Amino acid sequence: MTTRAVFGSYVLQHGDGVQSVLRDHWVLIEGSRIAAVTPSRPTADEVHDRPGRFVLPGLMNLHNHCFSEQVARTHTEDGNGRKNNKSIVYTILMPLSRRGIEILSREERMAIARLGILQLLKGGATTVMEPFRAGIPEMFDAAAEMGIRFYGAPYLFSTSNAQAGTDGVVRYAGDDGAADLAIWKALHAKWHGHSDGRLQVTMSPHATDTCGPDFLRECAAIARALGVPITTHVAQGQDEVATIKARYQGRTPAEYLDWLGLLAPDLLAAHCIASSDDDLALMAARGVTVLNCPRVFARGGSTAAFSRFAGAGIRTVIGTDGYNLDLLGEMNAASLISKISSGRADVADSPALIDAVTASAAAAIGRPDLGRLAPGATADITVVDMSDPMLQPIHDPRRGLIALANRANIDLVIVDGDLRVAGGRYQGADEAAIAAKGAAAVHKIWDLPEARAAFAS
Ligand SMILES: [Zn+2]
Repeated sequence: MTTRAVFGSYVLQHGDGVQSVLRDHWVLIEGSRIAAVTPSRPTADEVHDRPGRFVLPGLMNLHNHCFSEQVARTHTEDGNGRKNNKSIVYTILMPLSRRGIEILSREERMAIARLGILQLLKGGATTVMEPFRAGIPEMFDAAAEMGIRFYGAPYLFSTSNAQAGTDGVVRYAGDDGAADLAIWKALHAKWHGHSDGRLQVTMSPHATDTCGPDFLRECAAIARALGVPITTHVAQGQDEVATIKARYQGRTPAEYLDWLGLLAPDLLAAHCIASSDDDLALMAARGVTVLNCPRVFARGGSTAAFSRFAGAGIRTVIGTDGYNLDLLGEMNAASLISKISSGRADVADSPALIDAVTASAAAAIGRPDLGRLAPGATADITVVDMSDPMLQPIHDPRRGLIALANRANIDLVIVDGDLRVAGGRYQGADEAAIAAKGAAAVHKIWDLPEARAAFAS
């Protein structure tokens, strides 16, 4: 069994739910477990003893899309491709990823999956929850190969080709989703618990406006029988709210899910930016987790403020939504966007944001062995190099982490006791080759006539 010792000038602790920072401690790893957090230098096979490091529980990025956002990268900034400043989810991201999956070979889909996972790991994440089209099951292969902890969430739809009309209303052909459920069950049978439990399969009905009532009830029943979390997109915009109200007797998306029995502690609800204050109170009462991804909405001119959800008493965690896979950068944005939108400097403070990607995120997926550095915990660890001149001087390392650090400061990423990133570099393969192959595959999608048309509008 390999042992590793990592010195931290700062080591994050969660004791009795209270977060603190130890100075000048070692974290000793034995195999895939943390053996000790100690002030004295342990003996180990591998010793990382450079000062200035901040040792954190592995950061958890609980909402990301490696594939569907890559097809939009650097095309859809600055309003490009957006009609009347509206969402591009149903007009660009979903149709183009669907086409892309059809035209690419398995090896090309693998290349895009590898590039995304590379970016997640280099962005400091040890765990990702990744909803993606079931047509790219290679996400699981790439996660198994590259060593990230992967909560794969193959989408389920009442129909696999939901699209918004010019009125913004999403229509779907039926209300069965039987084919998607069969695919999901096959992926669950193949991958759930794979790689010593590192791969997990999450139930992921796509969204309130693409999944009908009976289908959502069935998804929830299956998830609960299997004991897996449920994640879905909720209230991503006002069009969705209007659609759900018109379809289901005036219910908001949150009320729709509550009616079906989905608003519960096992639900991770992405975005919720068009939820009313009453909706947020309902979600808080039901123990739902909100997945907050502030930067992807900032791109479109919308405010997704961490503090609005956390302030309503909802467990709120942070994801990158595939837009920019720098989780520290996303936390910085969560801080600033919360402060701007509330007009208050004291909201979304650094300990709360750090909790959102460690202890709180672990609780959201029912993993008390993750999100903390303590003897017996699983050895998922993210180490940030705070010695960078850009971060000096440091009085409070947690504030430094949120206000000043970003992905360039990620030093070590350890998953299940294995070193995946060291000195900021991925250890499993050549980064440049992964990037080149992934980008080449995305370019094939960009060369499609429908992509050219979408991006030219
Ligand atoms: Zn999403």
